[in-house]
Amino acid sequence: MCGIVGYIGKHKAYDVLVKGLHRLEYRGYDSAGIALLKDDGTLNVYKAKGKVANLEASLSGKDVEGTLGIAHTRWATHGEPNDMNAHPQVSQSRSLAIVHNGTIENYNVLKEALVQHGYTFTSETDTEVLVQLIEYVKQENRCSLFDAVREALLQVVGAYAIAVVEKDNPDTLIVARKSSPLVIGIGQDETFIASDATPIVEYTNQVIYLKDDEIAVISRKAAIQILSLENNLPSQLNIQTLRLSVEQLEKGGYDTFMQKEIFEQPSTLCDCLRGRIVDGGERVVLSGVIENKERFLHAERIIFVACGSSWHAALIGKRAMQEMCQLPVEVEYASEFRYGNPYITDKDIVIAISQSGETADTLAAIQLAKSKGAFVYGVCNVVGASIPRNTDSGTYIHVGPEIGVASTKAFTGQVTVLLMLALCAGEIRGTVRPDTIKEIASALLRMPDMLTEVLKLDPVVSELAKIFTYAHNFLYLGRGYNYPTALEGALKLKEISYIHAEGYPAAEMKHGPIALIDQEMPTVIIAPKDSLHDKIVSNIQQVKSRGGLVIAITNKGDSAIARLANYCLEIPDVPECLTPIVASVPLQLLAYYIAINKGRNVDQPRNLAKSVTVE
Ligand code: GLU
Repeated sequence: MCGIVGYIGKHKAYDVLVKGLHRLEYRGYDSAGIALLKDDGTLNVYKAKGKVANLEASLSGKDVEGTLGIAHTRWATHGEPNDMNAHPQVSQSRSLAIVHNGTIENYNVLKEALVQHGYTFTSETDTEVLVQLIEYVKQENRCSLFDAVREALLQVVGAYAIAVVEKDNPDTLIVARKSSPLVIGIGQDETFIASDATPIVEYTNQVIYLKDDEIAVISRKAAIQILSLENNLPSQLNIQTLRLSVEQLEKGGYDTFMQKEIFEQPSTLCDCLRGRIVDGGERVVLSGVIENKERFLHAERIIFVACGSSWHAALIGKRAMQEMCQLPVEVEYASEFRYGNPYITDKDIVIAISQSGETADTLAAIQLAKSKGAFVYGVCNVVGASIPRNTDSGTYIHVGPEIGVASTKAFTGQVTVLLMLALCAGEIRGTVRPDTIKEIASALLRMPDMLTEVLKLDPVVSELAKIFTYAHNFLYLGRGYNYPTALEGALKLKEISYIHAEGYPAAEMKHGPIALIDQEMPTVIIAPKDSLHDKIVSNIQQVKSRGGLVIAITNKGDSAIARLANYCLEIPDVPECLTPIVASVPLQLLAYYIAINKGRNVDQPRNLAKSVTVE
């Protein structure tokens, strides 16, 4: 995953780079590093294991001058997180430095060849192989840095966003990408590069999203030339204006980004719904669907591809789509789909869900589905990311930047968009009754208020969390629309508290997990008054009969559940398909407070990174 940032211009690069690294830290925090090039050609490289703050602390008293620099915050794929494996990686002669996001799949073959040529390696990374290869090509061909980078990349199999600088060449920064994101920010006589726009937004709103297989030469006077890696022909500069503000990237008075993002949900849901529910709450209009009416009308199957929380949202989308569009619907992990030799036809609609819009496996699944003629629809948050640019159509969830690694507002935004998608496509297909559309659409409009109501549970959940902070295992159960809510609740707890938790369809519990139930293992049961209410009451009874402790997410005044459960968290009444949205909020809070009580870093949990741009 990793975050990369670079600067060339008239100001001190160090300040821009370190600030940028902090913004990108959500992408990885195994190590951080920086390479600074001074006008006299001196190249200083500094690296430190762990967070960006460690790097900063290690730099006091060091020479951090230079108006050209590149920096990196790492999520290790090749080699353990330590100083040697940290980026920037430098070439043997120490004349080149590189930062890299991605994986070089043929690095072993390339490395062996370089060893034959006398190269020695000091790290275990695939990245060091690339920088050595660039140096080798440059020396062999006696060519420019640009030609050497291009020639080396033509030999590489894998994914990369890279930035390269060369000692004695203080006026040039080279960047390139294939399957990993890279944005160029255009300032006044200065240029920024980064994995996403967050390090750039406070300096300029003019950006270019580099495309796959493009390489750019950026020179000091902000001259940018973009060329095709394959044929070396120049590409047009497609300059876009960012719609992102610096305030959106701050904590705004909350202790953590995750807390802010949980509490933002009433307003992010408003943004997500804006302009999409029309005719006084009677109809749902998604332009991405309306513009492709025929595709939805004649579709024979829907396949969702996603990873992580997005996959849980897809399971909710599946239920809604099959109910409202009367179509067979499948949900696939993108990583399984892409290697599963799937049977796809041009009558299939593949819906790809990803908060970042950069998830590597989801992107690959999209390419595969497109190659087989499917119509591909994206549901993403980050505007202009790779997935929206590589799909036939789509809908943004518009929940603003999500910085906490554990997804909260993006999940509720995804579920909301998928329900709107089901309603809009269902109307086109004539498979959902107008009064059902009206009922759900008008309830969707009330969801921001419902979430404000649910968030009042905050002090109650915070108290409840104290009781369960030291449990070692949790079971989360739900049925129907709320089986995915159970999966998502368990995932939140695992991600940020490191407590083992399993999500299960409540009835499946009898086929195994019930053996685990005892006084020590709390069971969280999502039990709203829906069509499966009686069934879930018996499931609660089964847990209680085995001496289990039950925390129930239930509707106000549900005495049947209140009598059985040890603790109840009450959510407002909403139509069945909307219950996952209201039910997931107390589960986010529960995971949050347990993790805080355990002293965890909820925004940057160990081993995780926000946007998974590697396989
Ligand atoms: N493969 C590189 C490394 O392990 C970069 C990893 C990444 O982008 O996640 O250092």
